[in-house]
Amino acid sequence: MSYLFLFSMLLLAILVSSPAVKGKIGEGKVKYYLGKLSPDQYVVLHDVLIPSKNGKTTQIDHVVLSQAGIFVIETKNYQGWIYGSEKSKKWTQVIYKRKQSFHNPLHQNYGHIKAIEQIIGDQIKPPYYSIIAFDPKSTIKKMDVNSPRSFVIYSNQLVKLIEKHDETVLNRLQIKRISQRLEASNIVENGSSKAHIKQVRTDQQEKLMKVKAGVCPKCGNQLVTRNRKNGNGSFKGCSGFPKCRFIA
Ligand SMILES: [Zn+2]
Repeated sequence: MSYLFLFSMLLLAILVSSPAVKGKIGEGKVKYYLGKLSPDQYVVLHDVLIPSKNGKTTQIDHVVLSQAGIFVIETKNYQGWIYGSEKSKKWTQVIYKRKQSFHNPLHQNYGHIKAIEQIIGDQIKPPYYSIIAFDPKSTIKKMDVNSPRSFVIYSNQLVKLIEKHDETVLNRLQIKRISQRLEASNIVENGSSKAHIKQVRTDQQEKLMKVKAGVCPKCGNQLVTRNRKNGNGSFKGCSGFPKCRFIA
């Protein structure tokens, strides 16, 4: 084997084991599972980015709307043994005899549900199901959850759990209204926060190019070179100063 090959394999291994990439792979898997739900009966939304309290935004991995209510799903792509309880602030992951704690995902998901509630408004009050889905690679060792609408399961059990809830609480029109509200509030039109991040990057790039071309990205006026007060070199500023205070 050549060194180049070995090097590429090593690089690939590092990349695939990075938490960000692993997370994406895990989410893709859950997307695949949820794709098995019949589209006639379920509306499945992925990667929902909606406003939450005090002007912040909250990101929800998956939301499933059905006649039984709203399933809010938080996925955790962890390995090792998982210990937790509904009430505790932190849960524990044990991997290679190392203990790590993480925020109780049910608490996290409670915030997601509150954000959804706010968007839907008071007219429809559907039941909410909070689901924490761990990757089947992990082992849920001990889990104390007693609320009837909270679940901690493996992601390959999601479809079964959702389909088991077949009571009719919402009619089709209500489901449609809810999904329309959520999609309208989704900060990214097509439901992908990746696209949102990409857009931010594109905007930054555009700004940089304008500055390089000597144009103010804020107002479109020309940029001019100004000397600093105490002779400490110069900087580029907008010729529209003081109306525009852009400084490159
Ligand atoms: Zn300007």
